[in-house]
Amino acid sequence: MQDEIRVDVRQESEQERERLVSLINSMADGVIALDKDARILVCNGAALNVLDVNISVNGQPLSRIVKLLSKTQEPIDVQELIIRTETATTHQDMLLQYEDGSTINLYMSIAPVHLGFGKDGQRGFVILLRDITKEKSLEEERDEFISVVSHELRTPVTIAEGNVSNALMIVGKKEGLDDVQAALKQTYDQIIFLTSMINDLSTLSRAERGKLNVEVEDINAHELLDELLENYTPQAAAKNLQLHTEVDPNLELLKSSKLYVREVLQNFITNSIKYTETGSVTIAAHMQPGGILFEVRDTGIGISKSDQRKVFDKFFRSEDARTRKNNGTGLGLYVTMKLARLLQAEISLESELNKGSVFKIFIPNLHPAAAAVDQPA
Ligand code: ADP
Repeated sequence: MQDEIRVDVRQESEQERERLVSLINSMADGVIALDKDARILVCNGAALNVLDVNISVNGQPLSRIVKLLSKTQEPIDVQELIIRTETATTHQDMLLQYEDGSTINLYMSIAPVHLGFGKDGQRGFVILLRDITKEKSLEEERDEFISVVSHELRTPVTIAEGNVSNALMIVGKKEGLDDVQAALKQTYDQIIFLTSMINDLSTLSRAERGKLNVEVEDINAHELLDELLENYTPQAAAKNLQLHTEVDPNLELLKSSKLYVREVLQNFITNSIKYTETGSVTIAAHMQPGGILFEVRDTGIGISKSDQRKVFDKFFRSEDARTRKNNGTGLGLYVTMKLARLLQAEISLESELNKGSVFKIFIPNLHPAAAAVDQPA
């Protein structure tokens, strides 16, 4: 009787294993299950294809099969990379090197799991692999294009801005040229819009190429908020909006990049002013363990639940007519998110349509050495 049950259980688990193997073999992505020491337990056909091996790899340490390089061609210890992984992580910036020295761009996701069932299940890892060489080269070409275009546009736009601004001044002193003045003013506003678009594009391309450096300094958040209040009061007043600051009296100096913290807050503030028709915009700073929580609150048009998930996407702009009547590139919040990653900061958004929005960012104190590495994802 005992034996029969054992046979049954064995058959069942054998069937279970077969089902699992055929499932992972039908997957388009490479799948490899590893034990806790990153030795291969199961590997599907797609993974063998990506790795370009046709021998049995079961039982072998992954590092014997997989040679990884960083995007700057430094060797990466894959065994250590995997064993160190504590939560599901994806990597898209690594190269896989073949025996003949050629490389491909690799997408690799690593998930620590319990292999087997119940609490006796052994710790291990499941990794997914995909060749993303094609996507990467398209992405690189696009980044290169954006970088060249924004660089080339800068000079003509600056010259146009200077000339139109002079012409506006001259025309402003003459009587009876109101139409010319209005046309020039419109041209001038569009040039300023182009300038801000070029700035966003070039920050974006630098951020995507990982060329932004974080220079950590002591930031006096009181002074920073006063400065922002002074700079943005005219813009808010022009729309009859109140601009306030709300600052904890006991704020300590923040160790981060003043340049990027300011840029992030400026993006939130200009958006709040842009997308608020009546009421107020408040810039707040609160002391929290390990850093400062900044908030920009407005009583504006708000953001619908479905748009809230997309506002940080590249080029996203809400379809709302009240958004569309303002100029915008849809890049501001995307760049903000990139900068936040560099600052190891966390952004959150609360918003209700027709009531207003709160953009929050917690900026942690950075250690100067830790911040020297720039890793926008
Ligand atoms: P844009 O150049 O369009 O302002 P952003 O990336 O800064 O681009 O913002 C993306 C979109 O998010 C905006 O087009 C708008 O729809 C929405 N948005 C951002 N901030 C606010 C806000 N404070 N209130 C309402 N909508 C906002």
